[in-house]
Amino acid sequence: MEMPPVITRSQWGARPYQGELRSLGMVRQIVVHHAAGYGAATRQEGARQVAALQKLHQGLLYNCPDIGYHFLIDAGGHVYQGRPYVKGEQLADLPQFAMGNHVLNVDSHKLGICLLGCFHEEGGECSDTPTIEALESLESLLGFICRNYSVRPSDILTHRDFVATTCPGEKLYVALGQLRGRLALAGGYPSELAA
Ligand SMILES: [Zn+2]
Repeated sequence: MEMPPVITRSQWGARPYQGELRSLGMVRQIVVHHAAGYGAATRQEGARQVAALQKLHQGLLYNCPDIGYHFLIDAGGHVYQGRPYVKGEQLADLPQFAMGNHVLNVDSHKLGICLLGCFHEEGGECSDTPTIEALESLESLLGFICRNYSVRPSDILTHRDFVATTCPGEKLYVALGQLRGRLALAGGYPSELAA
């Protein structure tokens, strides 16, 4: 599976990182989130929404050095870089990832990926369905990271696996279960890591 193209921070108009960039260390887990209230499908709209999330996370409410996640994916399947890389210019360089803020305050070893949308069950306060495009990009990004950073597909988790939250919504949670199974079947991970 191909690595998805990633829209860089300069391409979406990121503001500078605030503070000193730190590495998250080895990637041991990948944590998937959703962002309720955002649902861009085009690259232009997606760039605006990612910039709005950065502004929110850097603002007084969250007071984070930057957008909390490492990658974001919109409903059109466009993938956006979140946190700056500590080393490396692009994903193909197998960059060293920076510490994020997406589960606890200090998220060592946890790579955060956020789908723009709200994926609660029907009848909730909001209910989008993850698009095929978004799920395909998520699958290729997860596959790339699992293979190149030696992460087991069974270590692809979600926000709600750590704390009491509904994030990433039931529909994405279920879709991710299927996706994890496909990645495990596809293999290509270091054999000692086979889940
Ligand atoms: Zn979350």
